[in-house]
Amino acid sequence: MAPDAAAPDGDDVHDVVLFYAYTAIERPDAVASTLKSFFAEHAAHFKGRVLVAREGVNGTACGSRRSGALPMFQALLRELVPGCETMPYKTSLASEQVFHDARVETVRELVGWGERLAHERREKVVHLSPKEFHEALKARDGEATVLDLRNENESIVGKFRGARCPDARNMQELGRFLDSAARESSGKEVFMYCTGGIRCEKAAIYLEKKAPDVAKVYQLQGGIHEYLEAYGGSEECLFLGKNFTFDKRGVMPKSGKVDCDGEVWNCQRCRDGEPKLRSCAVCVVCRFPLVLCERCQTSTSNRGEWTCSHHANLDGVYSMYAVPHLTAEDLTARIERMKCMERELFDADPKSTANKRRTLRKCFTRMEAELKRREAGGACDRRDVAFCRNSGRELATCAGDCMGFWGPGHVIEKPPTTLCGVDATSVE
Ligand SMILES: [Zn+2]
Ligand SMILES: [Zn+2]
Ligand SMILES: [Zn+2]
Repeated sequence: MAPDAAAPDGDDVHDVVLFYAYTAIERPDAVASTLKSFFAEHAAHFKGRVLVAREGVNGTACGSRRSGALPMFQALLRELVPGCETMPYKTSLASEQVFHDARVETVRELVGWGERLAHERREKVVHLSPKEFHEALKARDGEATVLDLRNENESIVGKFRGARCPDARNMQELGRFLDSAARESSGKEVFMYCTGGIRCEKAAIYLEKKAPDVAKVYQLQGGIHEYLEAYGGSEECLFLGKNFTFDKRGVMPKSGKVDCDGEVWNCQRCRDGEPKLRSCAVCVVCRFPLVLCERCQTSTSNRGEWTCSHHANLDGVYSMYAVPHLTAEDLTARIERMKCMERELFDADPKSTANKRRTLRKCFTRMEAELKRREAGGACDRRDVAFCRNSGRELATCAGDCMGFWGPGHVIEKPPTTLCGVDATSVE
């Protein structure tokens, strides 16, 4: 994108819409290609992410109001996709363009599940409007089973009080979470929610299939997004904390109630700093996006090498770009630790831990090479600097456009599965 491409918008108001429709699309490729041309034509004012599948369409788009591109886009969708006439658009405002560019992709399923569920029975599934969901939850007074179907880094900063949150980052893991929920659902009412509602469309059917004797599966129509439009900022709001979005806004303007019981945090490291989204803030091991406050992001104490919850055991052990800056004693201790972990994994199960062990080996081999370099007279660069795990640049100089929705290169290493927060396959 040319740097001046967005200039015509100035400080125009921008509308951000989130939409999905489960409807049969005969030729997803043709639809995607027409949408791509539209985005290309309106590149200066209109950007976003759209997935097109045989089972429907799902996307988020942002356009300057002055340009009028959004209503044109909506008209085009109505024309292209039968069943889109009544598709609801969840709308919010932004003061600037929230996407770096436009991406339209065709996918096999809107919500990757590896299992086609479109034609399953859904006798127990009930859609509840934000008001109905609110009243029903209030009436259960904390006794209901509530499932949060989003990623871990979303539920850390905000969730419905008492909700169970999966430690899941892809559909397989989410499937296992639902399987375990299903085993405890016999005769019970289950409430579920996600960001915009689409993930629940499939998850609710999946749960009913796995737990045929569940009493009812309630899904929040329009997701947290619509719930907060109705209850955000109000005293009776049952959503705690913030609704996290992996676009430039980071956090939706309307937040839930301030949490007094420590169910949600603001920052994954210090817990209370104001969260600030930056694409450099990722796990040093797997690059899963993290929610960190500015203070944690600018601290050089760990040289920008944070870890996610799955890799907490490698915090202060694993290192990438900071290797030349660590002391010889530090490197030796880290190598020792990782070799020990590698042995433990091998003893536990050589087969299923092969990838984990390879990750460790790569890292300690890098460190051993650095020690050799030092022995040959190379010096340790002791400057107090932190590094961006995506670009390899010093954090102070990385513009934060190095990955995901911000970056020109999109995801540098495409995550293996969907739902990884910044990946192209989940735009919800
Ligand atoms: Zn913090
Ligand atoms: Zn960066
Ligand atoms: Zn990680």
